[in-house]
Amino acid sequence: MLPVIALVGRPNVGKSTLFNRFTRTRDALVADLPGLTRDRQYGHALLQNNPFIIIDTGGITGGEVGVDGLMAEQSMQAVREADITLFIVNAREGLTPVDEAIATQLRAENKTIHLVVNKVDGLDQNTVLADFYRLGFDSVSAIAAAHGRGVGKLIDNVILPA
Ligand code: GDP
Ligand code: MG
Repeated sequence: MLPVIALVGRPNVGKSTLFNRFTRTRDALVADLPGLTRDRQYGHALLQNNPFIIIDTGGITGGEVGVDGLMAEQSMQAVREADITLFIVNAREGLTPVDEAIATQLRAENKTIHLVVNKVDGLDQNTVLADFYRLGFDSVSAIAAAHGRGVGKLIDNVILPA
């Protein structure tokens, strides 16, 4: 069984962009419109020559009824399947109440969660990260999935040692 990495977080934070970078595909639809991926999407990745299964998810919106509720359930299912969970947040929007709600939900699963602050391109990294440290996770990484910045470090420092 290959190790499984789950990408979870609100819609539009860049989960599918990171999925495509990890898998070197365009299999996951990337869009400015939130909520494009409703189901879990599985892909293969070779990270520094180590094979992984990556799961992209539709995102958790906080208003968990109807389709949103199903998306949140899919996300939590991905976390249960995962050996490594990357909780992606958006540096451009800062810490939101929905991020805090997701953090609470993730903690209830009793697994190690790695916080990944995406879209740090053009922003002051220290200022952005200070905000997200308030979530209380030990593992916090800054990346720009669209450009690849920080992704090598994320693989070396977070994914491979996990
Ligand atoms: P998802 O809903 O979490 O899967 O997010 P997507 O991967 O679809 O990305 C949502 C939007 O954010 C798209 O317009 C992406 O191009 C953009 N985006 C993703 N990563 C980055 C990044 O590192 N920097 C910036 N500036 N935009 C990004
Ligand atoms: Mg997506």
